[in-house]
Amino acid sequence: MIVCHHRFLLLFQQPEGPVLGQLPLAPNWEPAVEWAAFAALRAGGRETPPHGRVVPVADPRLGLPYLSGFRVELDGADPAPPPCEFPVTYFARDARRGSAALVAAKKLRDGDTFSYRLLAVEQPEESSAQSAALAFEVGEETRPLAVTNAPLPPLFAATMPMGETDGSSAYPVFLPQAVLTEAQALVEAAGAREVGGLLLGHLQRDPALPDIGAVVTAQIPARHAVGEAEKLTFTPETWAAVEAAIRLRRSREIILGWWHSHPARFWCQDKACSPATRRACSLQRGFFSSDDLSLHENVFAKAFHLALVVTYADEGCHHALYGWNQGVVQRRGFRLLPDPTDARPPPTVAGSAPLPTSPPAEAAAAPTHTPIRESPATCQPADPP
Ligand SMILES: [Zn+2]
Repeated sequence: MIVCHHRFLLLFQQPEGPVLGQLPLAPNWEPAVEWAAFAALRAGGRETPPHGRVVPVADPRLGLPYLSGFRVELDGADPAPPPCEFPVTYFARDARRGSAALVAAKKLRDGDTFSYRLLAVEQPEESSAQSAALAFEVGEETRPLAVTNAPLPPLFAATMPMGETDGSSAYPVFLPQAVLTEAQALVEAAGAREVGGLLLGHLQRDPALPDIGAVVTAQIPARHAVGEAEKLTFTPETWAAVEAAIRLRRSREIILGWWHSHPARFWCQDKACSPATRRACSLQRGFFSSDDLSLHENVFAKAFHLALVVTYADEGCHHALYGWNQGVVQRRGFRLLPDPTDARPPPTVAGSAPLPTSPPAEAAAAPTHTPIRESPATCQPADPP
C-alpha cells in the first residue's frame, strides 16, 4: 500500500512571464517506493515490501505549497531506513505532456522556453492508496529477493567503466563482454528482424561498503518471442523457457533484465539519405522507444531491472544500457568484464544521456520504434526566484 495525503500539480510559467496553466498529476508512486526499498536494501537494511507513504518536501526558499520534490517513508522496516528523496524531474514526462497541451492550446509556441514548478495541496480526508503489486509480472517477484554476499572491490578491479551514469544514487552493474558478443551475434544473424532475450545474473551485496551490485552472468535468447521487423514481444512460452533455463543452470540466477535489438540499418533503406545523414540519424545512434519504456515499466519494474539495447547500425553493432534511477528509466553506464578469450577491442557503448531521445524528423518513419516525442517546447524545472 502506498499512501499519500496530498494532491500534486505542475504549474507552468514562461520566464519572467505569466502563469500559463497547471496540470493536476496522477502520479504512479510505485517506481519511487520500489527505488526507496532498493536503496534501503543497498544501505544494509533488510528487504521490505514496497509499502510506505509519500510526503511532499517543501521548496527551501518558497515554502509550501512549492516543492523541491518528495520523499518516500517506507513502512515496516526496523530500524526505519533513512527517507529517500526524489527531485522534481520525477515528473519530467508529465511536464512534456503539459507543455504539449499548452502548445496545442496556443499558449506556447514550438521552441518557446518555459519552466514548471511542483506544488502539493493537502487532502486529509482522502487516501490515494495504490496497490503496490499491480505492475509486477515477472514470476519471481513474490519470492524473497535472492542476494548473495560477496565483496565488490574485486569486481571493480577486474572491469572497466563503459559509458557514464547520472547521479551518485545508481548501483553498479557488471556486464561480461561474452554476453554482449553473444547478443551481437544473434542480432547480426537475425538481419532485419528484431530479436531479444533475458539477462540473468545475481544481486551481489558487499556488507562492508555497504552496497549491492547487479552482476550479469548470461543472456537467454527469447526463442518464443514474436520478433517481427518492428517489434519484439515476450510470450508466456518465453517466460517458461527462461525459468526452465534458470533451473537447468543451477546457479541460483535471477532475471536481471532484458535485451533487444534495433536493426536500424534496415529501417531507413528506402530513404535516399546520404551516409553522413544516416550516421547522424538518432535511429542509428540508439534510443529507448516509448514501446521499450512501456514494457520496462510494466514488466521490469524492480529497481534493479536493466534493459540492454543492441543497435545494428550501418557501421556495425553498438550497445546502450538503461535502468532505473530514482524511479525513472535512464540510459546508464556499466562496468565491462573482459572476455579473456576474445582479442577483439571492447564493444562500442553509447554514453549516458537522459531519456527520452527524439529522432530527427526525416528519420521518424521506423514502424513502431518511434522514440518518445519531446514536447516541441523546451522545459525545465523552475529555479526558485
Ligand atoms: Zn526497442
